[in-house]
Parts: sequence; structure tokens; C-alpha cells
Amino acid sequence: MEEKVYGVQCKTCGKETYPAHAVCPNCGGHDFEPLEITGEGKVLTYTDVYALPLDYALRYLRLAIVELDSGLRATGQLVDDDPKIGKRVRTTVGVVRETGGRKIYGLQFVPV
Ligand SMILES: [Zn+2]
Repeated sequence: MEEKVYGVQCKTCGKETYPAHAVCPNCGGHDFEPLEITGEGKVLTYTDVYALPLDYALRYLRLAIVELDSGLRATGQLVDDDPKIGKRVRTTVGVVRETGGRKIYGLQFVPV
């Protein structure tokens, strides 16, 4: 089974967000439709986070904000040993953490 990651699209104004918000940041609406996060885009910025919860099996987590070709800006794990601002990446879904033996899937970006 292929895992998927969803954000939301506001039913009122069409704004796409990932991760999902309880209230639309554009119009204040509360009605959303699920939006599959997929495709390619470019790295806007990235950072390495070293202060992680104990159940992360990583030494650090490389997080990126990527602007997808759809215009959506999404935050996810950047799986790239040579990250650069502006670099082309595509979305994928992978295990971002394991807690109590349970795998938690999340959004990842890999170089194109
Ligand atoms: Zn809205």
C-alpha cells in the first residue's frame, strides 16, 4: 500500500495549506476538502533541527519549506545530503518517526 499525505483546500476561497489548519489563514473559513500533497517544486529554505523528541530515531531532522509547482508551500523532511536553496525536489512519503513500535508516515522531499 502506498501511503499518501494530505493537506486541505478551503472550500470558501480555494486556499491550499499543508499542514492543515483548523481555520483558513486566508479567509477564516472552516470548511475544507482533503488535498493530496504531490508533485515537484523548489526548496525555499531548510534547517536542521537537533532538539527532537526522544522517539525520533534520527540524530537530527532536516526540515524544508518547498514551493510546489501548484504554488502551495509545504513543510516536510528534506532527504538530501547536499541541500541548496532553489534546488528541484519532488514529494514522497516515508517514515518520519517511530513511536512505540508504530511507524509514523509523513511528507518528505527528495532531489529530482
Ligand atoms: Zn479560505
